[in-house]
Amino acid sequence: MEQRSKKKKKPKGKACLIEGKCIACGARCQISCPVDAIEMNEKEEPIIDEVKCIGCKKCVKVCPADALEIYFTPEEQKLLKELEAEGAVEPEVKEEVAAPVQNAESNIALWKGVWVYVEQVDGKAHEVSWELLGKGRELADDLGVELAAFVLGENIKHLSDEAFGYGADKVYVIDNPALKLYRTTSYLHGCVELVNKYKPEIVLMGATGLGRDLAGAVATDLKTGLTADCTQLSIDKKMRILEQTRPAFGGNIMATILTETRRPQMASVRPHVMPKRDFQQGRKGELIEESFTLSEDKIPTKVLEIISAAQESSVNIAGAKILVSGGRGLLNKENFDMLQELADLIGGVVAGSRCAFDEGWIEHPRQVGQTGKTVHPKLYIACAISGAIQHLVGMQDSDYIIAINKDKTAPIFEVAHLGIVGDVFDVIPAIIEKLKQSNAKIVE
Ligand SMILES: Cc1cc2nc3c(=O)[nH]c(=O)nc-3n(C[C@H](O)[C@H](O)[C@H](O)COP(=O)(O)OP(=O)(O)OC[C@H]3O[C@@H](n4cnc5c(N)ncnc54)[C@H](O)[C@@H]3O)c2cc1C
Repeated sequence: MEQRSKKKKKPKGKACLIEGKCIACGARCQISCPVDAIEMNEKEEPIIDEVKCIGCKKCVKVCPADALEIYFTPEEQKLLKELEAEGAVEPEVKEEVAAPVQNAESNIALWKGVWVYVEQVDGKAHEVSWELLGKGRELADDLGVELAAFVLGENIKHLSDEAFGYGADKVYVIDNPALKLYRTTSYLHGCVELVNKYKPEIVLMGATGLGRDLAGAVATDLKTGLTADCTQLSIDKKMRILEQTRPAFGGNIMATILTETRRPQMASVRPHVMPKRDFQQGRKGELIEESFTLSEDKIPTKVLEIISAAQESSVNIAGAKILVSGGRGLLNKENFDMLQELADLIGGVVAGSRCAFDEGWIEHPRQVGQTGKTVHPKLYIACAISGAIQHLVGMQDSDYIIAINKDKTAPIFEVAHLGIVGDVFDVIPAIIEKLKQSNAKIVE
């Protein structure tokens, strides 16, 4: 009878942790495991279930600190040697795993805390800074870390009291005559020195003209990622990572972007996107003053004169409490007079969709949406606006939305608190008439 030789099976080994090497990166190994063989202990280090582990090496490959390896029992090691000698297996060649690209000292565990940049001109802070402190407070609480504000300028220490009142635990200040007026080089230098010294894991900045300039320069210098114009920010608690959501591909999708291997995680947010927290009078925190180390002769830009730009328009739809907004269904510029009449009666401001701007019915400062303004009024009345995603991202956080549209399937109704299916040329005159009859007054 023929005796068949039993085929030797190559052992796969089990994953194990190399003591002292784990950097608590945020449970990447656990997330990568296809068989749920990894639990995390209270120090956020992996505990590997040997029974469940199938030696697939996924956790070993994903670990940014090379803290995991595959372990073979002495019997398995013997078997491996025999197989190698028989030529049945290739000697183990350590796979070249691309090291995660990291910026200087980017051991992720070293970076802690949420920071918000307080943008100021002449010692007056931009409102977006306080809006961001509200969101920053939420993020810091979710991460269990401190929230700090940082501010650069001349004679700006008084802003720290405001920052504490809006939720900051600490305020870092660089107060120096060289920072009196904004110049990219000097502000970049100050910001980068602060960030490199204190290592916050998240830095938020306002997507204003100044903020866009500074945030891009800071992110480039720190070799980290920056997600501009975020409409939502949240924390993935399992991974301890910032989820940065913004419209992408022409606004057709909302993309959530993660900065996985670099720190800090930087995001900018337009004014009026995040709601401001209530100011807590008398709330205290720690003020940390830092010096400015760049001499004036190292700053190539000199400000010779400041010439205020003529106001493009005195309209400020971003700050308005009531907006009456019109779209393509209004048909022409003259029909916007009807919206103006309604707005005048209720103390509102006229705005519109991109289409209304493209048609020349409204000026650009009145356009709402992705390429217009983000608004957060108490009441938004959308008249003959379909509710394209690019429009919705600019207004969907309004406190109360009334939509008037003759198409009952229009997407605007999905965000509206009150929907009126009807013709604007019937509905709006009827509302105007009713308001006039009732002599109703808007009480704030
Ligand atoms: C990169 C990019 C950026 C963009 N940025 C913006 C932006 O910032 N803001 C913005 O608004 N859009 C923006 N858009 C354009 C956006 O995709 C839509 O095309 C635009 O919002 C449509 O405007 P609308 O709702 O006025 O017109 P339409 O989509 O044509 O809707 C008109 C609506 O009016 C209704 N209607 C018609 N007649 C009447 C009537 N008599 N009574 C009642 N209802 C009536 C119709 O049922 C329809 O729903 C952007 C697009 C791109 C690609």
